[in-house]
Amino acid sequence: MTARIIDGKQTASDIRAELKAEVASLKTKNIVPGLAVILVGNDPASKSYVTAKEKACEEIGIFSDDNRLPADTSEEDLLALVEKMNNDPKINGILVQLPLPKHIDESKVLLAINPEKDVDGFHPTNIGKMVAGEKAFLPCTPNGIIQLLKRSGVKTDGAEVVVIGRSNIVGKPIANMLIQKSDTGNATVTICHTRTKNIAAHTKRADIIIAAAGRPNTVTADMVKPGAVVIDVGVNRIEDSTKKTGFRLVGDVDFEAVKEIASLITPVPGGVGPMTITMLLFNTVESAKSAAAQI
Ligand code: NAP
Repeated sequence: MTARIIDGKQTASDIRAELKAEVASLKTKNIVPGLAVILVGNDPASKSYVTAKEKACEEIGIFSDDNRLPADTSEEDLLALVEKMNNDPKINGILVQLPLPKHIDESKVLLAINPEKDVDGFHPTNIGKMVAGEKAFLPCTPNGIIQLLKRSGVKTDGAEVVVIGRSNIVGKPIANMLIQKSDTGNATVTICHTRTKNIAAHTKRADIIIAAAGRPNTVTADMVKPGAVVIDVGVNRIEDSTKKTGFRLVGDVDFEAVKEIASLITPVPGGVGPMTITMLLFNTVESAKSAAAQI
């Protein structure tokens, strides 16, 4: 059996089209969703992420307020900018691109963002609400995975899920979202990490495997039950002299071998990746709608 490929690019494009229509309809009511993007410093990867986020906003009609600050910006000045955005009614979402320079306390800055504008879903208030199963901004990559599963017709109810990785931005939240009493949850979830004794023993009985370790070949064909659904979150650069850049991107899953065993699989690139920014746009539109409802 060769697995059906879950096309993240197409799913992201479908959701963005829905959001574009929603933004157009909000504009007829004089509601323009606004996202403040804050980048401190010149890290090339961060710069390209921020540019991609701003371009995505523009494409669907979200107003984006671009704030690029020098690397030596003080913590105090950054906190003052966050506070200004917290109080700006044109801004519905605040995104502080991570990582921040070492002299700035990242958790202090994330804590300063008004939870009602925390469209990354990293504020402890939103994390707590998510865990409690209350309405909250859900972190973008895990929510993107949930959407991919849902829109590919994968039922999580009663499924055995194995998540590899326990980071605060992927592993822990996706595991949590999948155990919620909801139509995209109700799964039985096992979380594996570097101290797990025998990862294969867990993955072999999984109906759904979510790999978020950041290490190529973490999931090989012998670790996968025939017919399992495999979601590859990893993004790893490996040397490739045939490429102009000298590298290519691979996930955490041995894609070529695993696709012969799985029933559904996400590629890298083109799987989970395109969903992350899309869910940021989704959260910003949701935030604009709830801000308007409060007036
Ligand atoms: P992270 O903070 O480095 O966490 C990696 C997790 O994987 C840790 O919990 C670690 O365990 C575990 N791990 C590492 N090697 C392992 C192994 N050999 N076996 C079992 N567990 C292992 O990474 P992250 O931020 O969660 O990101 C994970 C991957 O997803 C990265 O490749 C990242 O680039 C990618 N990512 C992609 C997107 C996207 O939009 N596509 C978004 C976010 C992240 P310990 O806790 O024991 O160290």
